[in-house]
Amino acid sequence: MNSEIPRPPPESPTLPPSTGDGSADRVMLEGPRSRVGEFVTLLLVLRDFLRGFRVLHFVGPCVTVFGSARTAVTDPHYDLARRMGAAIARLGFTVMTGGGPGIMEAANRGAKEAGGRSVGCTIELPHEEGANAYVDRSVRMHYFFVRKTLLIKYSYAFVVLPGGAGTLDELFEALTLIQTGKIDNFPIVVMGTEYWRELVLLIEKMARAGTISPTDLDLIFVTDSVDDAIAHIRDKTIKPFGLKPAVTRSLPWLGESGFRRT
Ligand code: AMP
Repeated sequence: MNSEIPRPPPESPTLPPSTGDGSADRVMLEGPRSRVGEFVTLLLVLRDFLRGFRVLHFVGPCVTVFGSARTAVTDPHYDLARRMGAAIARLGFTVMTGGGPGIMEAANRGAKEAGGRSVGCTIELPHEEGANAYVDRSVRMHYFFVRKTLLIKYSYAFVVLPGGAGTLDELFEALTLIQTGKIDNFPIVVMGTEYWRELVLLIEKMARAGTISPTDLDLIFVTDSVDDAIAHIRDKTIKPFGLKPAVTRSLPWLGESGFRRT
């Protein structure tokens, strides 16, 4: 048996620096640590949630758009995301994204160009440049899992455009929460049919194999048509959930500020 078991670090009350280089995430994920260290992490997670709640409380009902951070402006999927962002905004929803470049920027851009509301829930990353230029409001998270929770918490529908590991993670997070009843039966619209073809086949295979329920297939709507996507979102959200434009009053004595354009 190997006796070289790493010793826990000494108890230290030092807060992990918020440098954006991911060091605090590595610290949190590296295994058991001192009680003080774990408590400090707890406070940092709490701080992330508090920041998010304070900003996103005022943004109104959202539709979250997921997709690649690497999509170029010249890519047809950028244009699709931009048109979709505009259509979501015209439907009366706030467009929420991760606030980054690529598909996220395109969706925020479409919403802003349509005169709608556009928010970003960004993440501290090494060499990250902050929120894209098309968000009216943004909040910056340190922890990925906090951000993922917030991207889902405020939304009545999810739109998934072509992307990589991050996008797949977000799609399956939403799907898992819906199929386990942790959130309502919100629609998931998958756009970019050619790009997602194998994924759709895999999901159908999962249903045949019984690893997901055949009814889970009904949760996903696959299309390239902005009009069809919007009609689906309208049918599955505004009518069943009786949505109306939300007006949430800010309380200045709590340091809150309502939704306003910057
Ligand atoms: P990926 O598909 O791997 O490019 O990841 C895209 C998804 O992960 C987006 O929907 C975002 O929520 C998140 N994400 C990845 N990179 C960034 C970034 N630079 N800024 C903000 N969010 C990001």
